[in-house]
Amino acid sequence: MKQQCKELVQYGIKIAQAHLVAGAGGNISVRDGSIIWMKPSGFALDEMTPGDLCGLDLATGHLVRGVNKPTSEYNMHLAIYRVRPDVGAIFHTHSPWASGVISAGIQFKPMFAEFINDLGRTGTLPYITPTTRKLAAAMANKARHCDTIFMVNHGVLAVGVNMKQAYYRCVVVEDAAKSLVAATVVGKPRFLTPAQGRELMAQEGPQHRLKMMQSG
Ligand code: 13P
Ligand code: ZN
Repeated sequence: MKQQCKELVQYGIKIAQAHLVAGAGGNISVRDGSIIWMKPSGFALDEMTPGDLCGLDLATGHLVRGVNKPTSEYNMHLAIYRVRPDVGAIFHTHSPWASGVISAGIQFKPMFAEFINDLGRTGTLPYITPTTRKLAAAMANKARHCDTIFMVNHGVLAVGVNMKQAYYRCVVVEDAAKSLVAATVVGKPRFLTPAQGRELMAQEGPQHRLKMMQSG
């Protein structure tokens, strides 16, 4: 079995253990040349084996490996890979804290360094019915210039050059939501200013972190 498939299964377990999905919610995929390996539809992310995964041909969208029905969001995954040749993995979660914040109409802004260091370019997509081609097209359009996308009344989608980067983006978004709720409960959140963000990214530390995140 391919190493990438084993790794995708491991990340599925990590995502479930981090409480970024419940039940069969969410879906994850990884690029393997012209094949995209995906979660099978209806499977919980922590109950897949490598043999359960679905391999779809990127160009045709046909199932070319595996026997299961691919995630119902397969069009969304394929559409993003087609417009982002730099993307190696896509993780879509139904993160409870983040989904709550996103769906409350609150604008997610950086409150701490990880938000700026790790999320890349962020954007918000208004609600579109899950699993539709309309959602796939809108997400692909958004992903042309965004790496972490907040999906109103739905969840979070993060792309990465690899699975590690996509995973940590999902984790950082959920932490940001928890911090925002905590700050709102006890007082008034103070966000980093654009100037503070720029100064942070000019430092050597964040650049090194970014390299580590993109390494194997
Ligand atoms: P699947 O089980 O078909 O992947 O559906 C889960 C989901 O997240 C739909 O948006
Ligand atoms: Zn979803």
